[in-house]
Amino acid sequence: MSAHNFSIEFFPPKTAEGTEKLRVTRAKLAELKPKYFSVTFGAGGTTQQGTLDTVVDIRREGYDAAPHLSCVGGTRDSIRDILQQYKAHDIRRLVALRGDLPSGYGAAGEFRYASELVEFIRAETGDWFHIEVAAYPEVHPQARSPQDDLQNFIRKMKAGANAAITQYFYNADAYFQFVELAQKAGIASPIVAGVMPITNHTQLVRFSEMCGAEVPRWIRLKLASYGDDTASIKAFGLDVVTQLCERLLAGGAPGLHFYSLNQAVATTAIWQRLV
Ligand code: FAD
Repeated sequence: MSAHNFSIEFFPPKTAEGTEKLRVTRAKLAELKPKYFSVTFGAGGTTQQGTLDTVVDIRREGYDAAPHLSCVGGTRDSIRDILQQYKAHDIRRLVALRGDLPSGYGAAGEFRYASELVEFIRAETGDWFHIEVAAYPEVHPQARSPQDDLQNFIRKMKAGANAAITQYFYNADAYFQFVELAQKAGIASPIVAGVMPITNHTQLVRFSEMCGAEVPRWIRLKLASYGDDTASIKAFGLDVVTQLCERLLAGGAPGLHFYSLNQAVATTAIWQRLV
């Protein structure tokens, strides 16, 4: 398992209490020896300082950290500043994204797509950063067509990305087909599968609607049938997601990226079943 790219994602905590809780969570997850921890970034200035503070904390604890960086709403100057700050903290990894503007937030900024951000990072900082970008096996919600989305993904990789992490999904075939098409188009870089543990029915349905991930009917119906029985939801979720991960790894996925939602239990349970 250690040969795989195994990473864990957090969001920056908003309170001192959240920061403390995340330190405890991180200490537990560090025992799984992930390659790095990544930290999300809010478009429009919502969590930018939080992202920096959290990656600096992670580095201080001796782990590798990858801040996410979204360009929507940003300017060349503002992104250049952020890149310089990360360099000054000896951060060598980035997850480069377009991001989504919060509703009511007007200015679109100087970058339109993540491919433009990747180009800019390479032009400004050469090979300093290992850059990962987002991939959508079930198609990005704003894409004109699956073919168009794949072409855009390929453009983004060719702009200078080293690897990709997918949006989460529960249909392994969507992932395998996406990887096959990308490889046929000449993309040899790793496309790591994003994994969302299942611990909460309503939260999963809400997230999935927002980001265009499909929760298959049989999974939705089973989750609904458990009602408030959280123990059954978690046990079922653990089985389903572990089996998905097993299939992905057996089918050649180069790694797994866990959307931990700042919780240690579900990611740890899945991981322990896999090793
Ligand atoms: P792009 O790659 O720019 O694609 C966006 C859309 O534009 C797609 O529909 C694409 O097909 C289309 N497109 C791309 N290029 C062109 C072109 N040249 N012409 C026409 N259309 C084009 N969001 C955050 O705000 N913060 C985070 O920290 C964050 N982390 C994420 C991590 C991962 C691993 C993933 C999968 C997503 C993450 N997101 C995050 C969500 C992401 O920002 C959204 O999904 C966003 O809508 C798209 O970002 P992108 O980088 O994939 O955009």
